[in-house]
Amino acid sequence: MKRSSKFTAILIFLIVFSAGLTSAHQGGHFHKGDGTIFSQWHLKNGTLISGNYHTGNSRFIELEQEEGKLLKIELESLKDPDKQTATARIEHFKTFNDPVHIYPDYTIPHHRTNYRFLWISIALFILTLLIAKESLVILKRFRNGLTKWVFATCSFSILLVLGFACKKSTESVVETIPSTIPKTSTTFIDSAFAPFKATVTTSSDNTYYYVSSNGVPTHGMMVGITSWQQQVPIPQSYTGTNSWSIPLQPVYAETPLPTTTNLMKGAVAIAVNGIPIFNALNNRGVDSYLIGELDTWGGHCGRADDYHYHAAPLHLSSTSGELPIAFALDGFPVFGSKEPDGSIMKELDVCHGHVISNGVYHYHGTTNYPYVVGSMKGKVTLDPTTTAPENQIIPQAFASPLRPATTPLSGAVITAFASTGTNAYKLTYQIGSKFGYVEYNWDASNKYTYKLTDVSGAVSTTTYQRK
Ligand SMILES: [Zn+2]
Ligand SMILES: [Zn+2]
Repeated sequence: MKRSSKFTAILIFLIVFSAGLTSAHQGGHFHKGDGTIFSQWHLKNGTLISGNYHTGNSRFIELEQEEGKLLKIELESLKDPDKQTATARIEHFKTFNDPVHIYPDYTIPHHRTNYRFLWISIALFILTLLIAKESLVILKRFRNGLTKWVFATCSFSILLVLGFACKKSTESVVETIPSTIPKTSTTFIDSAFAPFKATVTTSSDNTYYYVSSNGVPTHGMMVGITSWQQQVPIPQSYTGTNSWSIPLQPVYAETPLPTTTNLMKGAVAIAVNGIPIFNALNNRGVDSYLIGELDTWGGHCGRADDYHYHAAPLHLSSTSGELPIAFALDGFPVFGSKEPDGSIMKELDVCHGHVISNGVYHYHGTTNYPYVVGSMKGKVTLDPTTTAPENQIIPQAFASPLRPATTPLSGAVITAFASTGTNAYKLTYQIGSKFGYVEYNWDASNKYTYKLTDVSGAVSTTTYQRK
């Protein structure tokens, strides 16, 4: 055979062989939207994973997902009976003693094509030798620069294609879902509270991130309430030992506590503007929002004239962007109506959240029930002096009453609420065609004065001293 035709034959062989190898990686074992049905696996953290059992040992199982993506899951993070299924599969494959399906503890094969990889390596080695040999001969024969370059370029391209094909294979993605939750970084929590630092003070120790505020938001309040108990917002001392506490190390609850039958007393979350978020159900078990108890911002005042939300303060997203709008008292963040990366919100579970790819749970605020928390995903400590449904999480910050509890004012609709000076507010309500007012203020010594004007025009003024 002439030197030139031998050279052409080798080139053709190389191209055909490399094309075969490249496609073998994609078409052989991997599923590519071909209608393959994957098994489903339930994790203890509530996530549902799709993937077919690929391999496993006493600590992990590896699932093959779409496009041949491998997902490594700790056996301990699987829920029964899926854990039992996985254990049974591991035992089953052990009996075959098949090196593809079993590997010793602590070593994870990077990809499943171990034997193929060996053949590819041998073939590559032979081809490289051939190319090197031919190159030397050709370079000697042809001093002509063009031929030399054509040959060198072809050889290099083929090696590049082969290298890429094998690299793709050896890098078969192995993603691990942790069974334990990493400690929340205070930098992350801080980033969420940062836009509201003018009215909110924060600090942290090893266990908690603390939030101090006076409980009065900078946005409008009270307007829109059609079922009013005559309370108005006044400052609270959510500070020092009475600050809000966000646990830095969330732990998944064995059985998440449903807010339909629990936590109707204290707050369930703290918004990033320092305002507590209570159960969507009021202490009578009724959806506060649906019966007109809430203002346009999803809040109202409690018996201590303490302003708080019962609905999700989604309006905070206009300041927060894609950062969390709140943190639940189990330590998990509450995002607005979008995912942290700005994409459309993914499906929510009964707790009103989900686990994202980093394995950490988060809640979402929505415009319908349960608005913020459906069930407490994380483990919480309950106040032993309270009983369900009016139980509450501790630690919890408390509002302190200034005046005796007021009563519902039938037919009143709050139409205006405005600041009338330093530490002074005026609330306007309407019953039928008549208006009533609550004008109140406080001085530097914490003496509060309430002037009430009812719809008949009768006025009463009372002062209270804040201790
Ligand atoms: Zn309330
Ligand atoms: Zn989400």
